[in-house]
Amino acid sequence: MNKAFDIGVESLGGNGGTGNSGLDANSSGLSGGGIHSRKFNATGKLDFTGGVVPADVAAAAKSFGDTESGGTFFLETFGCQMNDHDSEKVAGLLLSRGYRQVETPEAARMILYNTCSIREKAAQKVFSRLGEYRERGADKIIGVLGCVAQQEGQDIFRRAPWVSLVCGSASYRKLPEMLAELEAGNKRVTGLDNDTDETFETEITRRDNPWRAYLTIIEGCDKACAYCVVPHTRGPERSRGSESVLREVRQLAELGYSEVQLLGQTVNSYVDPTARHMTFSDLLLEVAQVAGIRRVRFTTSHPRDFGADIVEAIDREPKLCDHIHLPVQSGSTKVLRAMARTYTREEYLEKMALIRGAKRPISITTDIIVGFPGETDEDFAETLSMLDEAQYDGVFGFKYSPRPNTPSLALNDPIPDEVKGQRLAMIQEKQRVIQTARNLAMLGQELDVFVSNKSRRENQWSGHTSSNRVISFSSQERELLGSYVRVKVTDSGTGSLTGVHVLEVEG
Ligand code: SAM
Ligand code: SF4
Repeated sequence: MNKAFDIGVESLGGNGGTGNSGLDANSSGLSGGGIHSRKFNATGKLDFTGGVVPADVAAAAKSFGDTESGGTFFLETFGCQMNDHDSEKVAGLLLSRGYRQVETPEAARMILYNTCSIREKAAQKVFSRLGEYRERGADKIIGVLGCVAQQEGQDIFRRAPWVSLVCGSASYRKLPEMLAELEAGNKRVTGLDNDTDETFETEITRRDNPWRAYLTIIEGCDKACAYCVVPHTRGPERSRGSESVLREVRQLAELGYSEVQLLGQTVNSYVDPTARHMTFSDLLLEVAQVAGIRRVRFTTSHPRDFGADIVEAIDREPKLCDHIHLPVQSGSTKVLRAMARTYTREEYLEKMALIRGAKRPISITTDIIVGFPGETDEDFAETLSMLDEAQYDGVFGFKYSPRPNTPSLALNDPIPDEVKGQRLAMIQEKQRVIQTARNLAMLGQELDVFVSNKSRRENQWSGHTSSNRVISFSSQERELLGSYVRVKVTDSGTGSLTGVHVLEVEG
């Protein structure tokens, strides 16, 4: 079955595993879209086949000279879209230094694992994975990158002594120097500073997704939500200069990308550090002006910093996609206060009203945490009623997971896992009914679809709508990958839309 908006992996499974949110590239349908196809060459300009390296990257890598067979790396990524994109930049950086990326750990001299620690299960996975790597490559350099590296620090060497590199995301710029230290025989190298005001920008990024290019515009987070490790693992908020962002968008357009997604843990808290002092909405509008760009997405928006100017920009500029991921976390003001989310239920609903007042319908998706310490049945009932009131197009539900270095660790009144599971299941059921009805209401509508997948079934294709729904459709055309077409919705389910190709959309 094809998926349009997801109810959320964790809530669908109800198992408290690793849920995906708007920042997660592996989630189907939502903001990442799960379209990690690397095979197609739709525009003739991008070629990810085989080598998984676009031509310009390969050329740049070559200019640094070919490496010996020792300079090979295997890179595995776990976690959110920011992690996926960090890995794209890490790979680009290493390629530019002459390293060569390989497809299996066995073929590599160096195994790098980019990790996530947002919930406990995600962090637990890291050590079992590291054990597997040891079995598969005793003589290799093994490095841990990302949030678990930052969170566990040197302790990783104690728990997994075969690891020789531990590097948090704020230190990626220094990776080549750290790798040189390892090559020189140093057995343990760390990069764990996160009190930086630098962003991680590279000359070269190796992009995995041939249809949608991700760009980080703001790194870190200053919001300090009581449950969240991100401020600890990714450091303080650092915005990237607007000119640097626009330069990269122009390069992407030249490479053949027509869709870009601006990333940040709180993307709309963007503050241009340069003399231009562009606001986030100004930046959105300028990105949309870049020749060749047809769709601009952004995620994740923090409700506190969400203003009318963003909706006005979407109203003005059709290239700004009609989807906003606006995590609410809870429908209870009491719980929101305990979470330190900096808004009340009413204030959140006011932001939603701004979005609902837009000239065209804008899809809204959200994240919800159930079982935060002290969440009563009454509080949870307010979260359920929030779903009724908000009528979300997608919800990612998570069981609260206590994390190291977070303020909520000190809170009493933990909610039993069984109760968290029941609450998650109730969220899932309510959202299933809401989504089924919302998808049903789309029958007969004609939607613009960016085609990113050809089914093995004859004449069947799929792609994303501007609202980030995935739709599968039939067409008699022979080649549609990478094109924009109009599709009429003929069928719908809870998580799926089906349609038929009506006509091409002018560029
Ligand atoms: N920066 C985004 C925001 O503020 O909404 C998302 C950050 S996080 C990568 C994605 C989601 O994970 C959050 O929105 C939240 O719902 C969930 N999350 C974060 N910490 C959690 C925790 N300790 N337990 C359960 N879920 C958590
Ligand atoms: Fe975490 Fe809150 Fe920052 Fe999002 S806004 S990354 S949930 S601290």
